[in-house]
Amino acid sequence: MRLSQMLFVTLREDPAEAEVPSHKLLLRAGYMRRIASGVYAYLPLLWRVLNKISDIVRDEMNATGAQECLLPQLQPAELWRESGRWDTYTKAEGIMFALTDRRQQEVSLGPTHEEVITAIARDMIRSYRQLPLHLYQIQTKFRDEIRPRFGLLRGREFIMKDGYSFHTDETSLKATYEEMYTAYSNILRRCGLEFRAVDADSGAIGGSGSTEFMVLAAAGEDEVLYTEDGNYAANVEKAVSLPVEAVPSTFTQFEKLDTPNTPTIESLAQFLKCSPTQIVKNVLYQAVFDNGRQVLVLVSIRGDQDVNEVKLTNELTKLATHYGGTTMLALAVPDAEAQRQWAAKPLPLGYINPGLEDDYINGGKDLEPKFLRLCDRTALDLKNFVTGSNEAGYHVVGANWGKEFVLPKQVVDVRKATAGDHALHNPSQTLQTARGIEIGHIFQLGTKYSKALGATFTSETGEELPLMMGCYGVGVSRLAQAAVEQSYDKNGIIWPVSIAPYQVIVVIPNMGDDRQVEAAKAIYKELLAIGVEALLDDRDERAGVKFKDADLIGIPYRIVTGRALGDGKVEVVERATGITQEVALTDVVALVKGWIDEELLAIR
Ligand code: ATP
Ligand code: MG
Repeated sequence: MRLSQMLFVTLREDPAEAEVPSHKLLLRAGYMRRIASGVYAYLPLLWRVLNKISDIVRDEMNATGAQECLLPQLQPAELWRESGRWDTYTKAEGIMFALTDRRQQEVSLGPTHEEVITAIARDMIRSYRQLPLHLYQIQTKFRDEIRPRFGLLRGREFIMKDGYSFHTDETSLKATYEEMYTAYSNILRRCGLEFRAVDADSGAIGGSGSTEFMVLAAAGEDEVLYTEDGNYAANVEKAVSLPVEAVPSTFTQFEKLDTPNTPTIESLAQFLKCSPTQIVKNVLYQAVFDNGRQVLVLVSIRGDQDVNEVKLTNELTKLATHYGGTTMLALAVPDAEAQRQWAAKPLPLGYINPGLEDDYINGGKDLEPKFLRLCDRTALDLKNFVTGSNEAGYHVVGANWGKEFVLPKQVVDVRKATAGDHALHNPSQTLQTARGIEIGHIFQLGTKYSKALGATFTSETGEELPLMMGCYGVGVSRLAQAAVEQSYDKNGIIWPVSIAPYQVIVVIPNMGDDRQVEAAKAIYKELLAIGVEALLDDRDERAGVKFKDADLIGIPYRIVTGRALGDGKVEVVERATGITQEVALTDVVALVKGWIDEELLAIR
């Protein structure tokens, strides 16, 4: 491609709308333009990158026997009602764009395709002989993200590869899951990314496994906890660890103490000169279930620990049926406004204890009249502990479960693992923290959707069974930007060779010099002829501008037909290292082609 004929507009200044380096660079280098919040036009250079990523994804997926298809983006509400997700996706998480058409039918723009694919399976899969089966697609997804940001990293319209597999049993599902683990690792490696596969939360569905593929980068919205021995890595949402040992309590007798201005664990521990591990802290949450039922939840946990809200959400979702619902819609720490809605009298915030009386809850409609009391494991074994008195300014010390406080019936694990904790697999290892960008997620779904939609098959023994399912997603557009986030310098993008929009840029420093122009054109033609993807910068611009632009757009190799032409030589610059060398005009094409082949081979 000749640059003089391209829509090629670069910016010298960082655009104000961008916060992270990759977003700034893709805008500055003319790869994309923002059209609306979280909505981008993918311009020709970026489209080439996206296609290259898609090709690598296809290659790896096809190699496993998965088959590509394309499912509708416009999806009928009935399917989502059958799975029970219409309300959660249009109201609770509110992530699905939904609309009513001219015939008054409700439809949505697909944020994901479990419902559609399961309906197809219900229709077309009859027998175990058709299984296992794996279909995938590469397509634009729509999600009304509450905070679209960082360009392609969190868009409201983005490209995803999503695949769904169907099986007779868990053994078959696990085999495909393992294959996907390898395929995803290959995809990321071939795209030139450094990544980590981490244990991930699989929600209340449970299932025996879910792995996220994280690209480590400071801009990542996820936190990854890992050990240096390489044997453990998990999303903080899912991570487990050993809490530090509690310090034995120094209080021997139950009493109420005047503890003015101690609403936080830190202030209380300082005032009482005790360890936060001797304190039982009580955190209030408000849960809303899908039948509208609101439940106030009181979690008792050791003072030095924090509640992991993902784990808590999973526990509460399991209790949905107990409250007459099927799932939980929302979980929040009630703010002052929320408290006014349900509290019969002012709450002793900062001084609450596990026995907070139920008469704090007014008799409002839809309100569960009793607190749901949960005890985290870390609080279970504490003796003679410190906790609130339900009266501002006072705490009790020397308290015990079964004496002053009733131990909640539900003992759960909802504590958040943190950096510095000891690892379960080897307590001499401590958890380290890193930021990650989630690029892919593979998931053993089980029978959640097949049961809900009635997608069954006849087994070898003639039984009618629900299909076992797995699902596997890669964010193609997110991956493109993550690659930049991982590879750039002060001058611009440094694309890995495998996903660079072009492999070589041939630059003519002086368009007025016929020899330069002719030599460049000849090299450019030769490159194209042997299958190298090349750009020719034949614009009427100063040499300095051309060099700057070439660096900014991040093409791996630059060939310059400059002064050295007199000696029959051209200059070759490697973008990643800046290493420059003069090479004979006659050798340059073969040399650069050799480098490219070598790089591509190394990551295959
Ligand atoms: P996140 O936690 O980042 O919101 P998710 O768990 O919602 O991701 P999935 O539903 O598993 O993501 O989707 C599969 C993949 O699609 C993700 O791993 C990610 O790479 C990509 N993806 C998800 N949401 C977005 C988005 N808003 N913009 C760009 N890519 C996205
Ligand atoms: Mg999401």
